[in-house]
Amino acid sequence: MTGNGRLSVVNPATEESIEEIPTTSPEELDAVAERAKRGFEEWRGFAGLDRAEVFHEISASLRGHADDLAEIMTREGGKPFVENRDEVTWVAACFDYYGEIARDSVGYLPAPIEPQQLALVIKEPVGTVACIVPWNYPLLLATWKIAPALAAGNAVILKPSEETPLGTRRMAELIEGLPDGLLQVVYGAGEVGEALVRHPGVDMVAFTGSQETGRKVGITAAERLMRANLELGGKDPFIICDDVDVEIAAQGAVWAACLNAGQVCTSSERFYVEKGIANDFIEASREFVESLNIGDPMDGQTDIGPMINGPGREKVERHVGEAIEKGAKLVAGGERWGERGFYYKPTVLTGVTPSMTVMRDETFGPVVPIVEVDGLDEAIEQANSVPFGLGANVYTRDFEKMLRCMRGIRAGTVWINDPLTDNDAAPFGGQGGSGIGRELGREGLEAFQESKHVHIDPKVEKKEWWYPYGKGDEPGQRVM
Ligand code: NAD
Repeated sequence: MTGNGRLSVVNPATEESIEEIPTTSPEELDAVAERAKRGFEEWRGFAGLDRAEVFHEISASLRGHADDLAEIMTREGGKPFVENRDEVTWVAACFDYYGEIARDSVGYLPAPIEPQQLALVIKEPVGTVACIVPWNYPLLLATWKIAPALAAGNAVILKPSEETPLGTRRMAELIEGLPDGLLQVVYGAGEVGEALVRHPGVDMVAFTGSQETGRKVGITAAERLMRANLELGGKDPFIICDDVDVEIAAQGAVWAACLNAGQVCTSSERFYVEKGIANDFIEASREFVESLNIGDPMDGQTDIGPMINGPGREKVERHVGEAIEKGAKLVAGGERWGERGFYYKPTVLTGVTPSMTVMRDETFGPVVPIVEVDGLDEAIEQANSVPFGLGANVYTRDFEKMLRCMRGIRAGTVWINDPLTDNDAAPFGGQGGSGIGRELGREGLEAFQESKHVHIDPKVEKKEWWYPYGKGDEPGQRVM
């Protein structure tokens, strides 16, 4: 919640305000941009090895404070402590990874035009990068931007979500060794994000969030002719073939749908099951969902914590309610849990159809809508039927089916038999309406680099293709 230049951070498990913090004013933003410029200049003087050392120290510091960070993240975001602790270790690993790969190479040598010449492609920083992130993985999604952006030599201005600024503030305190101003955090809701994207001191925006906001950010960036990396929402399909162990497939599927109460950009939101195992899969999903522990996210036994806020839960209720009204069958869940906190029970639906909102728009809640299909062709066709393309999951032991899914499904990531496992070394992002650009891997570093081509001829001599054309053998032939 924001108002009067203040941000009230609410614990979603109790609905109580934890802390109020001031938001960043436009004047403060000017000063932040100025400091970023100075930090950028100083960072230029660091060798790759020195930058890597700073990154490893940052990583060690964050690992050393994993419990402390995870507790703050749990109180403000509602994600179970176990998952938040895990998030911090991924954050640390990401700093280590980019510290190393950024010093591995700063460009390459393309073949020159003439043998005596030297052509170089030099990778340079873009400048000051605005990083705008959502609340669901607040530190990880920030780090997927901060680590490669800084490693590439840029300055960063980070804006966390208005829902989860406290973990980010703590992370920034724990990051030492960078020049003053190189990494700064600004606070506020959409208006601060918008001001940041419009600020003339910003040279690039890296955004993760909803499709709706991403479109606005993309339009503003286009108006400014500024580079934009957009990581947006999804409606990920999950295909379960009839050759797999139904119990394991159901447990993996439910985990992929309900992790962080279904509030993962790559949450599985549509399940296509081959008909030979459909009934068993539905029953196994129901049993597993009903065995999960809902409750205090600080408790190590809790599987499902609260959702982030009231509007998030109401959206899930609308999607489930509309589906049931239109003929879907509620197999499990379908209601709130507890007296307070934004809890929603993990929910299993069958009898869903492609026209229902729950099968078309991002639900972002713990819902498992299951569709029985005649075979893999139908499953792949259905998987590709929405204008998103972030992730997709498949369970099969049949190698030929793996290849058909790998080639046939439109998605930035296809996970086969290991749902939602990210890999720092491989690119992550969306096809179609799920975004533009990639994070992680080499692509995630290149996203924050400009390419400069330098063409050197050691000989100072007149070229035969210059003026005057009338006297040469083949005038103009070599001109580009
Ligand atoms: P959101 O779009 O509402 O907000 C994201 C961020 O943008 C927040 O920091 C917000 O303050 C800021 N913002 C809002 N309006 C802005 C504007 N006009 N200009 C600039 N910044 C603005 O998203 P959310 O509710 O915080 O997060 C959930 C969404 O994020 C879901 O759609 C989810 O799928 C998506 N997401 C995508 C990925 C991915 O990697 N593709 C990862 C996680 C979440």
